[in-house]
Amino acid sequence: MTKIIPLRFGGDNCYIIENGENAVLVDTGRPAIREKLLCALAPWKVRYVLLTHGHFDHVGNAVCIAKKYGAKIAIAQEDESLAQDNRTRAFGSRGLIGAFIRMASMAAIKKTQFETFTPDFYLQDGQKLDELGIDARVIALHGHTAGSVGIVAGGGCIAGDTIMNMGGVSRARIAEDFAGVDECLDKLRKTGAEWYYPGHGKPVSKKQMDRL
Ligand SMILES: [Zn+2]
Repeated sequence: MTKIIPLRFGGDNCYIIENGENAVLVDTGRPAIREKLLCALAPWKVRYVLLTHGHFDHVGNAVCIAKKYGAKIAIAQEDESLAQDNRTRAFGSRGLIGAFIRMASMAAIKKTQFETFTPDFYLQDGQKLDELGIDARVIALHGHTAGSVGIVAGGGCIAGDTIMNMGGVSRARIAEDFAGVDECLDKLRKTGAEWYYPGHGKPVSKKQMDRL
């Protein structure tokens, strides 16, 4: 049976999708959490690293994990260049908290360094992941970034930064395209997931999602 296991490191979330012997890591956090992530991954042999989008606080340890486990890395093609340099893509904010997050993110992007990669394969809308040994599929969530994706598995949905749960459940407070983020909400609800797993903060219930 395929299930999602949250791994939380302060504000950054990573997830293991586990099915028997098979383990896939979704997102890798920022470089500063590297040691904690490596410790937390001890029970698994990670074969694949899937990235919900190209921001540094999601791709920051992808190369390290891929090297350690001989794992393959995948991201949507639209975010490949973003993952190589976060300064290449402009993004806006919504509300006061959003403005604060945008400023903090821009400062962090300037000073954060991490190893870049060429993806082994791309993630795209509707893609089934049974070849990876898990019962899961990809949904495109264009908005927070052009190449944002979610992963639907085991009655849940890993949603990347399309939703957040920091100081309350919200839609993405920073995004390249807010109209896109708004459209993604319906797409997420249509997955029928019972739990939604954001890039930052605690899991979000179906009920909370319906109110968003
Ligand atoms: Zn992000």
